[in-house]
Amino acid sequence: MLDEGIGSWTDRRARVDPQKIAIRFGEETYTYGQLHDRSIRLANVLKSLGIGRGDRVAYLGKNHPSLAEALFACGKLGAVFLPLNTRLAAPEYEYILNDAEPSVLIHESDFEEILREVASSVLPSTLISIGESEHSDYETRLKVASNDAPQVRVRLDDLCMIQYTSGTTGHPKGVMLTHGNITWNSINMMIDVDFSNDEVSLLPVPMFHTAGINNLFLTTILKGGTVVIMRSWNTEHAIDLIEKHRVTLLLGVPTIFQALAESARWTTADFSSLRSLPCGAAPLPLPLIERYAERGLKFLQGYGMTESSPNATFLREDKSVEKIGSAGTPCFFSDLRIVDTSGTDVAVGERGEILLQGPNVMSGYWRQAESTRNTLSDDGWLRTGDIAEQDEHGFVFIVDRIKDLIISGGENIYPAEIEGVLLRHPAIADSAVVGVFDARWGEAGHAFVVLHPGATVTSVELHEYARSNLAGYKVPRSFQTIGTLPRNATGKIMKVILRGLADVGDD
Ligand code: ATP
Ligand code: MG
Repeated sequence: MLDEGIGSWTDRRARVDPQKIAIRFGEETYTYGQLHDRSIRLANVLKSLGIGRGDRVAYLGKNHPSLAEALFACGKLGAVFLPLNTRLAAPEYEYILNDAEPSVLIHESDFEEILREVASSVLPSTLISIGESEHSDYETRLKVASNDAPQVRVRLDDLCMIQYTSGTTGHPKGVMLTHGNITWNSINMMIDVDFSNDEVSLLPVPMFHTAGINNLFLTTILKGGTVVIMRSWNTEHAIDLIEKHRVTLLLGVPTIFQALAESARWTTADFSSLRSLPCGAAPLPLPLIERYAERGLKFLQGYGMTESSPNATFLREDKSVEKIGSAGTPCFFSDLRIVDTSGTDVAVGERGEILLQGPNVMSGYWRQAESTRNTLSDDGWLRTGDIAEQDEHGFVFIVDRIKDLIISGGENIYPAEIEGVLLRHPAIADSAVVGVFDARWGEAGHAFVVLHPGATVTSVELHEYARSNLAGYKVPRSFQTIGTLPRNATGKIMKVILRGLADVGDD
């Protein structure tokens, strides 16, 4: 039966090379044949529980091959996979479970405690527990299930996953991604990243999040390579795995690449197998790019979001120094515009909102018709909420989020620019700038700073420092030291919370 969905990828791969190792996890290996067999069995388990087309199946667990099995099992049934962030608090799980209404929740036994705190009214009636032993609920169900492929025809336009956004600017939104969205994202990735069928990809980022599962995991599988799954990030262990398995591709975020460079083994480790280093979520600092270049290692940087499955732009390796700070140019099958508030394209070098279009762009937000209408135009342009400018060669430079923009006396202030300046101050370890009410200017900047241990600095000194590095209107009106900045489970600063904590004094 013709099946276009990602559930068919294991069938197709197992047909080509059943003995090839698809996944390495600790001492365990899963061939393509085994991955296929186990995901068919899980699909039949789910089917016997009444799961079919459009039903949601939630998964809660750290990085593990079972997450991939659940994704492919759902794909084979036309069911919708719902990966849950492992670092949420009980009320956040309640919000998502209530919103998505999954019929089954597959979870690791370690999460039983937090699930007990979640209101039973939002929990699905069937919970399947994955434990260490081969007698766990999950393994027992798999063993007795049939391995006959379920006969469901899945199309590219069918819903494949609901992935929730990071919730940096408010409640996380359920992004509806079709099988086609995810397939095209992998094709975009393969065009700019030189994936080969003997790729050995190291997966150090969470699999519940779009970059880990869509970019690294699924693209490697589509190409027929091997994914080495890390339970969670550990610098020493990552180096061991790179050496032992001759890893060719490592996908990460700047903090991961920084940690590797700071390791005592940086100069002695054998990185000769590494060919590609895709990096996203934030721009890479030049010293880090140079440090890797000294070892002959170049980054492929990118910008994206859950709503675009997630890739939107890539900065190729050969441009990483020349176009430092840029997120690159649009992916092959994606189009990008930068527009002003009236929706007109801005001139080169001017700032505006990024709009995206392409077969990788979501079909909408789950059960949020109004947000979907406000975000996706009738002709398929996605409003990203990100501000950027393009240079004369079309390279995109991300400036900040619209929601974080401060408008003071009619002037736009971009907190990211001020934070960049503050971070260069020797006493400052971390910083975030938010807009606060100002009787004269409407809004003014208020800077939170985290100081390095033992460092001291006064507000007056910080004010003078900012004044000598920034135009007057950009200088924060007030400074506040704070122990740590509130970050969400994806590591992004929660400015929504900071605005409530701002102590702006009497003036
Ligand atoms: P929410 O939409 O719930 O507020 P979120 O936008 O943080 O959360 P994600 O989809 O995980 O959720 O993140 C996408 C956002 O991350 C982008 O819209 C952009 O603001 C930021 N981002 C991603 N890549 C980059 C990059 N290379 N440089 C700067 N910002 C980036
Ligand atoms: Mg967002």
